[in-house]
Amino acid sequence: MAIHSERLNNHIYEQSAIGKIAETGICRPAHSAEEKQVFQLAAGWMTEAGMTVKIDNFGNLIGTYPGTEPGLPVLMMGSHLDTQPYGGRFDGIAGVLGAIEVVKTLHDNNIKPKRTIQVVSFADEEGWRFNKGLYGSRGILGKLEPDEEARKDANGISRREALESFGCNLSEQSKDVYAPGSIHCFLELHIEQGPVLEALEQPVGIVSGISGPLWLTVTFKGVAGHTGSVPMHMRNDALLGAAEVIVAINKIATQEPGSPTVGTCGSLNVFPNSRNIIPEEVVFTLDLRDIEQSRRDKYEAQLRVIIEEVTEKHGLTYTISEDTNSEPRYCAQWMKDIIREESEALGVENIPELMSGPFHDSLPLSYACDYAMIFIRSKAGISHNPKEYSSPEDIALGADLLYKTVYRILQQDI
Ligand SMILES: [Zn+2]
Repeated sequence: MAIHSERLNNHIYEQSAIGKIAETGICRPAHSAEEKQVFQLAAGWMTEAGMTVKIDNFGNLIGTYPGTEPGLPVLMMGSHLDTQPYGGRFDGIAGVLGAIEVVKTLHDNNIKPKRTIQVVSFADEEGWRFNKGLYGSRGILGKLEPDEEARKDANGISRREALESFGCNLSEQSKDVYAPGSIHCFLELHIEQGPVLEALEQPVGIVSGISGPLWLTVTFKGVAGHTGSVPMHMRNDALLGAAEVIVAINKIATQEPGSPTVGTCGSLNVFPNSRNIIPEEVVFTLDLRDIEQSRRDKYEAQLRVIIEEVTEKHGLTYTISEDTNSEPRYCAQWMKDIIREESEALGVENIPELMSGPFHDSLPLSYACDYAMIFIRSKAGISHNPKEYSSPEDIALGADLLYKTVYRILQQDI
């Protein structure tokens, strides 16, 4: 192993004290004092790895390992050090500290790349504080929405106020935007946050791409009535209709065995929500994700037909609003090829390729450059929870694979 496994895992352990909750959890909101503190800790490790460090005006922590030809587009690695409110020790963190370890290893081996390398801890990946995530990674690519900084957190603090007290100057943000073509490629190491690698008994995996989520909000309207007096055949029960759609999305998403498609109803609001009133109105969400856009489109069409049929059957009216419709973003084949070859050299047989259901900072980066992701096995697939766990061995292997991949990419410049 080229990287220093113990050093990396010590760093992961050390940072877990900042914003610590429960036995093994962390709460580090975006642009908070806790995030500042973990940035200072990580900045120290970046400096030890030969990097110069800055916090930009989006609140990103950026370490720069200068190449001998500074005009070349940079090789960027990164993830995030902010966490969910009831988060774990590894989500995002493994990627930032793993990337620092990669640069430290290059530095210790006196490897001077032609291309500058940057390690970034992106601001507010998680998105819960201001109800909008991937702030830093969208920010450096000029992809923020107008007046996003006016969004407020639960305490009434706006993102603008939070960023200013973090030390950012919002009027200078445009200077921190990367020009098109200035990033050669992006690499992100991340915990899987799902149970696939564990089920396959594989420590690491190659991400095929980030799935495109389709988010719909559906409203069914029926007629309220006394549950004791309205005969069954005369009802217009909105919840009964919604229940049939919930069962249907599950059937739709599982019709092709082995496909990574996932379909979920995660939220349901019933009105008037009383045990003796037939539900008049139900608002529910549908989340459909797939790595193949054409298959997802086909499934969406099936879902819409079922909604039509179900509402007709129960005498309901309906509306559907589309909240998010993102396309899948595929990892670069040439980068996946390198990861596969290097994993074999490390003794990982038949490294699996798997879809990422969740978003990551890689998603905005995918519009700016080629990108790849390496997943580390998650225990029981648990994440966004203090119980989130990846073993020190798996994390070290993931970081070593990242190092070998970076080394190969740098060799392409020689
Ligand atoms: Zn993450």
